[in-house]
Formats: sequence, C-alpha cells, structure tokens
Amino acid sequence: MTVSTILNPATEVPIAEIPATDEAGVDAAIQKAATAFESWRAVAPGDRARIMRRFAAVLDDHQEELAWLEVANAGHTIGNARWEAGNVRDVVEYYAGAPERLFGRQIPVPGGVDITFREPLGVVGVIVPWNFPMPIAGWGFAPALAAGNTVVLKPAELTPLTALRIGELALEAGLPEGVLTVVPGKGSVVGQRFVTHPAVRKVVFTGSTEVGKGIMRGCADQVKNLTLELGGKNANIVFADADLEKAAAAAPGGVFDNSGQDCCSRSRLLVQSSIYDDFMAQLEDAVQSFTVADPGSDSAEMGPLISSDHRDAVAAYVAAGEVAFTGSAPDGPGFWFPPTVITPSSISARDFREEIFGPVLSVVRFETEEEAVRIANDTAYGLSGSVFTENLDRAMRVSRAVEAGNISVNSHASVRYWTPFGGYKQSGLGRELGPDAVAAFTEEKNVFLATSE
Ligand code: NAP
Ligand code: MG
Repeated sequence: MTVSTILNPATEVPIAEIPATDEAGVDAAIQKAATAFESWRAVAPGDRARIMRRFAAVLDDHQEELAWLEVANAGHTIGNARWEAGNVRDVVEYYAGAPERLFGRQIPVPGGVDITFREPLGVVGVIVPWNFPMPIAGWGFAPALAAGNTVVLKPAELTPLTALRIGELALEAGLPEGVLTVVPGKGSVVGQRFVTHPAVRKVVFTGSTEVGKGIMRGCADQVKNLTLELGGKNANIVFADADLEKAAAAAPGGVFDNSGQDCCSRSRLLVQSSIYDDFMAQLEDAVQSFTVADPGSDSAEMGPLISSDHRDAVAAYVAAGEVAFTGSAPDGPGFWFPPTVITPSSISARDFREEIFGPVLSVVRFETEEEAVRIANDTAYGLSGSVFTENLDRAMRVSRAVEAGNISVNSHASVRYWTPFGGYKQSGLGRELGPDAVAAFTEEKNVFLATSE
C-alpha cells in the first residue's frame, strides 16, 4: 500500500503517515455512501437538522484541536486556523437550518395542481485542495448533507489531517456510517474515480483551473453535476480619492494572507498615477512590518509555503520579475518565502498574468477609471477583486464593471458564509455558500396532478 508522509511545512519534520486509498478502496467507500443514501434521505427533516446541529456542537468542542492540527499540517497561522475551524462549525450550523426549509413551489397551471420538490442527488464527491483544507471541505459537505445526499470527500494529499479528524467527529456526533466518508489518496486515483463512478451524481471540485477543466471533460461522459471553484488573479484597485493610509495598511493582508496561497489573493495591485509614489512608500513600510514567523505564535501574520516544490515554483516567478522591495522571512528549516513586491515591465509579464499562489504582489499604475477596469478585466480569471475609493458612485460603478464573482469595497474580505461565493470566466462554475447553496445539491422535480372539471 502507498503511504504519504505528511510534513510540517514550518519545520520539515514528519508528523504523520497516511495510507493512500487504492481504486478498490474508493469503490468500497462510494458503495457504502450509496447504501447510506437510501436511509439518510429518508431521515425526517427535523431529525436531519438535529444531527447536523449536534455535529456543529462537536466541532465547536474541538476548535482548538482542529486549529492546531492545521497549524502543524498546513503551516497556517494560529489566528487563521482558529477562524477556519470556526468556519466549518458555522457552515454546518447554518445549513442545519436547511432540511426543515427545503421548500418546493406550487405553480398555477390549467387543469390541475402543479408542485415542485427538491430531491437529493445521491452520492456527492467533494475534492479539496491543500490551501484551505477545512473551510473548502465544509462548503461542499454541509449543504450536500443538509439536502439529504451522502458525501465522499477527498482531501489534498499534502493536507489530509483535519479532514480525517472531522470525519471521526461526524461519527461521534451521530451521523450514520457512510454519510460522510473521508477518502485520502491521490487525485489521479481517488478524485478521478469520483468523476468516473456512476453512483457519484455530483462532483464539487476546488483546485487549479487546469485540473478543473479535465474534471469537467470527465463529468461530460455521464452528464454529471459539477461545481468548480478554480484559480484567480485578482485586482486591488486603489484610486487617488481613496483613504491612502487605510488602503496601504490593508494591501499586504489582501495578498499575503495564507502566504498568498489563496484563490482570492489580491495579487495584482493597480494604483492611480497621481498617488503612485506616495502609495508605494506607505506600502513598503507596511510590507516590511508584515510579520512572517512561526505560525503557532500569536503575532504571526504569515507562515511558510506548503511544500518545497511549491516554493521553487513561486521563486521562479520572482527570479523572472523586477523586485521593488521585499519583507522578511525566517531562515533555517521550513518552506519560507518573504513577502515580495514586483513592478512588472508591462501587463503582459508572466507574474502579472499567471496565478503564482505565493506571497508575490505585482504593481502597475493606471491613469483613468476606464483604464483600471480594462486592466482588471484583462485576464482569463474572474474570482474576486477590491476597490479602494471614498467616492460612492465610483465604488458602485467599478464594482459592477469588474468581471468577478466577489468584489469588496475598501476591504479585501471575500468570504462570508451567508453570501454566495464563486467565479466568473475560468475561475469557476456555480456558487457555494449563501442561501442558495443547498439547491445546487438537489434535482428539482415537477409534479402535475390533473383535477377533474
Ligand atoms: P490541484 O492540483 O488542482 O488539486 C486540487 C485537488 O484535486 C487535490 O485534492 C488533488 O489531489 C486533486 N486532483 C489532482 N488531480 C486530479 C485529477 N486528475 N482528478 C481528480 N482530482 C485531482 O490544485 P492544488 O495545487 O491543490 O491547489 C491550488 C489551486 O487551487 C490554485 O490554482 C487555486 O487558485 C485553486 N483554488 C481555488 C479556490 C476557489 O475557491 N476558487 C480555492 C482554493 C484553491 P492531490 O492532492 O493528490 O494532488
Ligand atoms: Mg496539484
């Protein structure tokens, strides 16, 4: 049996050995989920809601344990990891409200009565990347379970530990066996089997655009339901009429949070020419005081990158770019990389176009609002973006003009579990979170009952 050795990315010390599931093992997990579906879908709505609330309560009891596990496995700062563990709990709690509110409609038609039902799909396969192992898992499994589906979940090979623990906690909370099964292993084996196995009726994939396209092609064979959350190359647009101090203080967190390993990272900074020099001076101060340190320390704002290979990939972008200034990072073991600001020679430079997924910010200047919008939209991606201005008309105009699913004004926050999240263009397909996510895990059935005249 193949085993992956899990490293702590801040120390390079091995912390676990996790067996990779082979194809027969995946088939067995899917079969178990298909069997469990028959009884889970029949659990009365109030009881399904109660079990999910109990699951949220058990997650709440294990917040610190889950957070520290993520610090060790993914190198996330303890502050972020606590937010992430809290997010899974909140998302399970939020969708626990759904089973009792899974309404259909009564639609006026001639000759009878017409009603619709929201029916579960069956087994849902959730494929999770390594950058936010807990939240991304929860955004898939919580609404899926609420709608009456069962879930097989594949964590990323590099970061399976929190998902495996959440799977145990689900059983402890009283979710029946087979309702939520965590299946660790390779994308090419476990993830691929979710795509090809006929009992899996929907795939929820978060990861790179390249792998996502392959999954979309694969799902076509069985016309399988699919949600894709893919990459991003998001713009932070700072206008001359912004509160510059606020914009400069916020920019590093907008791009370097989670070491830039965030599909919403604001990795393109567009600054209006008239304030460019002033803004860059303030940005340099903010970048130099950004604390990159042991992710377990309370003061850490950024930890290491996930792996040695990933650090090499990030470094290659920086070697090819024109570095304006950098922050600092610890020496010694661990996959550290300092926050880095690049001023590309043109908007066609690789660092300005491609998702680096590391702590690298590329800055360009613009003259007019139209030019800012044109640069922001000159990308195959469309996930998120930020607009810094004190002018409300401009804030609204630019928010509407940028082709992306999640825009923040005078802020870089993109994720709230109450609101829809997802991408335009090649950043994805479908939406997660918010009030409508459960509908994406159902088929809508229409029933017509003829009434005699
Ligand atoms: P990735 O290589 O696409 O992997 C994502 C997941 O898919 C992993 O679990 C991976 O398994 C699995 N996988 C790989 N090949 C597969 C295949 N052929 N069939 C089925 N599953 C397969 O992405 P990553 O490198 O982990 O994550 C970084 C990317 O994710 C970035 O591009 C980022 O923008 C994107 N991302 C997007 C969002 C969003 O919401 N839009 C959120 C987070 C991340 P292994 O672990 O075995 O490789
Ligand atoms: Mg990968």
